[in-house]
Amino acid sequence: MHTTDFIEKVKKRRTFAIISHPDAGKTTLTEKFLLYGGAIRLAGSVKSRRSQKHAVSDWMEIEKQRGISVTSSVLQFNYNDYCINILDTPGHQDFSEDTYRTLMAADSAVMVIDCAKGVEDQTKKLFQVCKMRGIPIFTFVNKMDRMGKDPFELMEEVESVLGIRSYPMNWPVGQGRDFKGVFNRQKSQVELFEGSNHGQNLGEIVTGSLGDSKFNELLGSSLHNQLINDIELLDMAGDEFDMDKILSGDLTPVFFGSALTNFGVQPFLESFLDLTPPPAPRISNNGPIDPASENFSGFIFKIQANMNPTHRDRIAFLRICSGKFEKGMSVNHVQENKKVRLAQPQQFMAQDRVIVEEAYPGDIIGIHDPGIFRIGDTLCQDNSKVKFEGIPSFAPEHFAKIYAKNSLKRKQFQKGITQLAEEGSIQVFKRPNIGIEELIVGVVGSLQFEVLEYRLKNEYGVDILMERLPYRYIRWVDMEGFDPKNFSITMDTMIVVDEDEDPVLIFQNEWSINMVKERNPKAILKEISLRK
Ligand code: GDP
Repeated sequence: MHTTDFIEKVKKRRTFAIISHPDAGKTTLTEKFLLYGGAIRLAGSVKSRRSQKHAVSDWMEIEKQRGISVTSSVLQFNYNDYCINILDTPGHQDFSEDTYRTLMAADSAVMVIDCAKGVEDQTKKLFQVCKMRGIPIFTFVNKMDRMGKDPFELMEEVESVLGIRSYPMNWPVGQGRDFKGVFNRQKSQVELFEGSNHGQNLGEIVTGSLGDSKFNELLGSSLHNQLINDIELLDMAGDEFDMDKILSGDLTPVFFGSALTNFGVQPFLESFLDLTPPPAPRISNNGPIDPASENFSGFIFKIQANMNPTHRDRIAFLRICSGKFEKGMSVNHVQENKKVRLAQPQQFMAQDRVIVEEAYPGDIIGIHDPGIFRIGDTLCQDNSKVKFEGIPSFAPEHFAKIYAKNSLKRKQFQKGITQLAEEGSIQVFKRPNIGIEELIVGVVGSLQFEVLEYRLKNEYGVDILMERLPYRYIRWVDMEGFDPKNFSITMDTMIVVDEDEDPVLIFQNEWSINMVKERNPKAILKEISLRK
């Protein structure tokens, strides 16, 4: 039996990802969370990564400074009694399958939306993964200190574009220069913000009831009346607050604020921590595994090549699902059926990488990987052979044919490709009956191609030729007795097989997907495949 202290620690864990389109304010919001948690004194420190996060040239820089990029992947800090793990989902060009996989380790997500831009592309993609997992999604409408879309319009957009109901937890008082605060619907009170030293310190808050006459003076009667009308409309026509729907990801609580000026950030953080669930049981082949179980278990959701290319060692990111982790413990690597000792586990505290002595369900630890782990592998303490639900292969959106320039280097080429595929940074496909010399590589973000070329050269000494292909869409084929010869496709579609030799179709346009569906009514075409 675990002690009550253990149970308390699990209950206070909050592990979430912040998802957004680039520039919506994810970094700024994360900084503010750290600021409130006391993990950094002045906001601005997380930025160090930003200046290096743009393009490839910089990927090499990132490679050199892996320390930084690794530490920013996961951040742990404390706020009140909570122990918070924030998972980074990179944006910009380093957007890749990794970004999606990180969401597999989160228990909930915060979606940051720019109030002027509304729901943007990358947010949509990341949202779909959260939706698939059925995790709670909280919305923070950011940059309210700037003029943007009308709040009602924004809610409507979230609902129609993403297909999720919304419940405003607070409502903005004014917008742009007039953004003075929010009406907190849970507490049924107006909360006006006072200056906050340009967002560097915490702001003061003035509170009172909606009808309080002091707000007539503080806001002016027109803004005050508008607020009263808005709230009346929301109460009458809006969705009800429904905790079950929030937990199943069918209703998103919406908060309005401004990360830059701190307005609304602390109330958001507190309300979010209150509503968002602690680590829940995870699905495995042995049924749901309770976090409070005696048996330590976890799964690997991300593998990152380490700083030293000559050693080719890597860090595997493990999400703890149950039991207590202790440094140096020996665990079962279920997929390989081997014992492994977790000797130098690392954890990522605010900006530092530290050796972790113990960790709990919900925590993420980095473990040294001498090349034995694959994405989705389970580690557990006893011999129960539990395997967690697989991590999906997400649909690549860019494809290329690649060869080794020098055919004498075929062996290294093959080795490099296999390892990079194991790390999950590329997906590899073959045309049936065509030799290994010709491989088709698929990636989610096109930067991955450049990373691939760079790493094959630097780590494996192989120069490659790459020919970009015009395919944009992929579907895994689920069909009894699939036979490529009797399967009717369009001219611009290609049949390939994935690493498990499962049949896959790649398409240039959506029209072809629909044609193929029509012509082969018995085939189920899937956008995501579960790794075996
Ligand atoms: P990310 O790409 O989502 O991480 O976005 P950043 O946090 O780097 O923010 C992008 C830009 O928007 C930066 O110039 C920020 O200073 C700015 N920004 C972030 N939050 C706010 C906000 O609440 N109001 C305003 N006016 N600007 C903001």
